[in-house]
Amino acid sequence: MDGIHLSKKIGIIGGGVTGLVVGIFLAKEGHNVSIYEKNSLLSQTSSKTTKLIHGGLRYLENFHFNEVKNGLNDRSWWLENFPKHTKKLKISIPFKSIFSLTLLKSFIGIKLYEILAGSKNIGSSKILKLLKDDKSFLKDEYKTYLSFYDGSMDDVSLGNELIQSARDLNIDLLENNEVTNFDPNGMIDGCNFDKIILAVGPWSKILLEQNDIESQKDIDFIKGSHLIIDREIDSGIMFSSICKSRYIFALPYNGGTLLGTTEEKVNHPDLAEISIDETNYLIESYNQILKKPISIPEIISSYSGVRPLIKSKDNYHKSSRDFFIQKNESLLTIFGGKWTTSPSIARKIVTMI
Ligand SMILES: Cc1cc2nc3c(=O)[nH]c(=O)nc-3n(C[C@H](O)[C@H](O)[C@H](O)COP(=O)(O)OP(=O)(O)OC[C@H]3O[C@@H](n4cnc5c(N)ncnc54)[C@H](O)[C@@H]3O)c2cc1C
Repeated sequence: MDGIHLSKKIGIIGGGVTGLVVGIFLAKEGHNVSIYEKNSLLSQTSSKTTKLIHGGLRYLENFHFNEVKNGLNDRSWWLENFPKHTKKLKISIPFKSIFSLTLLKSFIGIKLYEILAGSKNIGSSKILKLLKDDKSFLKDEYKTYLSFYDGSMDDVSLGNELIQSARDLNIDLLENNEVTNFDPNGMIDGCNFDKIILAVGPWSKILLEQNDIESQKDIDFIKGSHLIIDREIDSGIMFSSICKSRYIFALPYNGGTLLGTTEEKVNHPDLAEISIDETNYLIESYNQILKKPISIPEIISSYSGVRPLIKSKDNYHKSSRDFFIQKNESLLTIFGGKWTTSPSIARKIVTMI
């Protein structure tokens, strides 16, 4: 059957990476897509990430195997389809001893990460002795490091390519267009659609309730902040924060370092601003491992975003980054997810539609 006969008129609310990628997948299936975005495309949570294309190594600590496997699958999709804007990145974890239980646990975790990636693994992990050159910036007490590979992206150029693809597919991109009301029968601000997709990231529950639709999921608003530092590094480092409860990344970024991130509960997704405490936490954590400490004047800029984490029984540090799709008649609402897993979300939506 010619796909054109099945073409539907679809309205997507939210022009972050989820809305855009879902729109692109649907338009490729022959559907007629419009995206309503309150601000500019990709200007909110999607521009506040650590810029990793990853399965989420640290989610293995909480046994989220399926989620990690899906993320690794999607990592490979991005690396294959957008080689100009994504690349594999070496990340090292420094250790103070030649052998320790933490080193062994990390090694096993990384090997499991590689096994879950299967044929899509992008490089083999190694435990190496720190040489004099590597030590030039790490404190002398560090003796070994464990290196592994993950994906990273230039989110600005990648985002521009996604927007261009959407334009090429004749998706109607309605920027600076805040949707005030919609209903599950297919109405967005007075316009009729066959299907509506709510892809508003951390604003999903708020928008559903504003329109008298019950939200099946509760959201934890978890702010994450990053600093950009005027100090060059040639590969990534992953290390424990001062309170040891989570890992922090220092990654190469435009000739400097991208340092992040934090996890702080806030009451609303609009409250995304870095606090002095977060700045100090990131700097103090990084300075734990550095020979020459970072000083405040070396901070070039900072940014914060709010993760749309689906509330779970676990502490939010441990909660899953997996996504969920709620169905109400012609309305599909997306909860959770990561930049990396937007293709998985899009595939699921295409199947549902
Ligand atoms: C600190 C931090 C670090 C992260 N790091 C990574 C990482 O390294 N790798 C990774 O894969 N993921 C990462 N993520 C997760 C990733 O950022 C998000 O999962 C993803 O960007 C969510 O995209 P989205 O399109 O769902 O949401 P958003 O990007 O927030 O898009 C939703 C859009 O909806 C719009 N909107 C809201 N209300 C309305 C309305 N009424 N009408 C019209 N439009 C509306 C908003 O303006 C917004 O543009 C990170 C997240 C954070 C916060």
